[in-house]
Amino acid sequence: MLTMEKHYKEVWENCLSVIKDNLGNSQSYKTWFEPIKPVKLENSVLTIQVPSQFFYEWLEEHYIGLLKKTIKKELGTEGRLEYSIVMDNSTFGNQPFTINMPTANRKAVQNQAVSMPIDINKNSSKDIPNPFIIPGLKKIKIHSQLIDHYSFDNFIEGDCNRLARSAGYAVAENPGKTAFNPLLLYSPVGLGKTHLSHAIGIQVKNNFPDKTVLYVTAEQFAQQYIDSVRNNNQNDFTHFYQMIDVLIIDDIQFLAGKEKTQDIFFHIFNFLHQKGKQIVITSDKAPVEMTGMEPRLISRFKWGLSADLQIPNIETRIAILQKRLYNDGIEMDAEVIEYLAYSINTNIRELEGALISLLAQSSLNKKIITLDLARQMIDKFVKNSSREISIDFIQKIVCDHFCITVDKIASKTRKREVVQARQLAMYFSKKLTKASLAAIGLQCGNKDHATVLHACRTVNNLYETDKKFKTSVDELEKKIKL
Ligand code: ADP
Ligand code: MG
Repeated sequence: MLTMEKHYKEVWENCLSVIKDNLGNSQSYKTWFEPIKPVKLENSVLTIQVPSQFFYEWLEEHYIGLLKKTIKKELGTEGRLEYSIVMDNSTFGNQPFTINMPTANRKAVQNQAVSMPIDINKNSSKDIPNPFIIPGLKKIKIHSQLIDHYSFDNFIEGDCNRLARSAGYAVAENPGKTAFNPLLLYSPVGLGKTHLSHAIGIQVKNNFPDKTVLYVTAEQFAQQYIDSVRNNNQNDFTHFYQMIDVLIIDDIQFLAGKEKTQDIFFHIFNFLHQKGKQIVITSDKAPVEMTGMEPRLISRFKWGLSADLQIPNIETRIAILQKRLYNDGIEMDAEVIEYLAYSINTNIRELEGALISLLAQSSLNKKIITLDLARQMIDKFVKNSSREISIDFIQKIVCDHFCITVDKIASKTRKREVVQARQLAMYFSKKLTKASLAAIGLQCGNKDHATVLHACRTVNNLYETDKKFKTSVDELEKKIKL
């Protein structure tokens, strides 16, 4: 066994050195090859684990030739490569692929990277022993399905998440023993529910290694339930869940309209709650706004604490990007980080996506990461929805132009350049966003709609009479729209 292990690691080491020789560019190598882990080698098939679906696609698109060559060199013409994709919330249910060298046939394989408590994949469920069977009196070991990097350490605190974070932390210190049971975290997508719920699980495991923690998406839960009905082992299903000390159910809204699944969840919930076990639930809506859920379930959700996660402000967005870069050991100009944080302001997942795309772009094209590259990338990669120009962003560009800080806009200062910056910010916000006059006023120094209207008129007048002013307004507009 030990020699086998050495063997696959050695093989991958050899591959890496060939790849390193070929790439010669340490950034690409660092970004795309260092995070790969060799998993096993069987019958000339080397399995490597990659961090995400995106990562796998990128390798396939850009490095398949090199990988093929390298594998052939190491394992001969029979050599093949399989990818195993680490499961995260967004990729769950997607199967990883086998790249069958040298013909590059693809075939789905079982995900090696996660061991599920219950297999939810109908096609391959025959291969997996029934996880409900509890062997003897031994305590069954349940794979918690927690993702290491979704820790509290990596979760940046801000006004947007303070309540949820501290409640989560309290729960992790004292699972089942606080008033926050259940703890319900809610927000629109991409604001950190999944991350925070994992962080709670990880922290519980750190504090109480003997506690059984399970993270499961409501979708998995529902699928497992359906399977148990089909296999006629619903009791096993229920018993399995009744063994959990800390049950984390992500995206509970998935159960909307699924009466039978809600019913079984209701019973599991009651059982666990009565036994003082902790339940953490995430949802895209507050309990009062949930639709398609049984009232008795919603009333249970209200027993504990419901805490929302809001859109992070600019400082928190910058801190999140900085933390990511720091963790990855990558340096980036502050202005580029700011640009990203200003341009993408509604969704942390998209913010991180933009950062990853930017790093990828730069490593692929061997370009240094500059503000220009960031602009081009934002145009190309980011969905239109998040490309909508925001008032924050307008303020940033306008203030940069006047060499003043953004907080001046909200200040009481009557200094000429500040007044002009404020008026221009209002003018562009009216022209380039869908925000109402009142909303613009509120964001530009807490002014009323009449002030915004006045600002727009002033700028229009100057624009028509002052050539120099017109030129700089045009330039600014171009910058904002870039
Ligand atoms: P949701 O479950 O609400 O859709 P996620 O938990 O999947 O959101 O978060 C999306 C991405 O943003 C994840 O990669 C997560 O790590 C990151 N993220 C969210 N909130 C924070 C935070 N406060 N600090 C650091 N990263 C965060
Ligand atoms: Mg989520």
